[in-house]
Amino acid sequence: MDSTLAQTWLRAVAAAVDHRQQELTELDAAIGDGDHGSNLHRGFTAVLPAIEGLDSAGAVLTKAGSTLISKVGGASGPLYGKAFRAMGGTLTEGGDFGAALAAGLAAIEKLGGAAPGDKTIVDAWAPALAAFERTGSYADAAAAAEQGALDTVPLQARKGRASYLGPRSVGHQDPGATSTALILRALADSAP
Ligand code: ADP
Ligand code: MG
Ligand code: MG
Repeated sequence: MDSTLAQTWLRAVAAAVDHRQQELTELDAAIGDGDHGSNLHRGFTAVLPAIEGLDSAGAVLTKAGSTLISKVGGASGPLYGKAFRAMGGTLTEGGDFGAALAAGLAAIEKLGGAAPGDKTIVDAWAPALAAFERTGSYADAAAAAEQGALDTVPLQARKGRASYLGPRSVGHQDPGATSTALILRALADSAP
């Protein structure tokens, strides 16, 4: 990944969040507090000017992460912020994108303590990482994340606000897993 792809990716994420803000908000209204769409919209809107002129993918993703941390108050801001910072740091150290995705997942798990099956971001990110490690394809990572998000529907939330609902969280798709799928689909759509 070069700086151009990293910037194109983040612009595509911002556009997709703008387009799908209401859908993310409705998913979060069902099992959370209805702000996931506006949280991500505020965050990725702030990312766009922040990454202008940066000349490496590592710098772009690191800056995106620190911007998300400073602009987004909800659970998802620090989680995605640390994930993007970890991805940027790995690329800066010469790691490939698979290593970056792995570092992003590790950062999310370290901060949030969620495991697969807890109905969180992890349930889309972990299968995306596994798919990317198998094939090296952004499209395969995106498809795996989308399936992972769909597979959160029957799960009971064990982390985050949705966990307060207990069994009533069953039957709804997790907003954060859905936005992770959106983020990885934006990458697949951005790659040459
Ligand atoms: P908040 O819950 O603070 O309002 P958001 O609505 O922006 O924040 O984000 C909610 C999403 O964050 C959830 O759908 C879930 O996917 C994700 N999430 C919450 N807690 C965790 C956690 N501990 N680990 C991973 N993801 C989490
Ligand atoms: Mg919320
Ligand atoms: Mg909130």
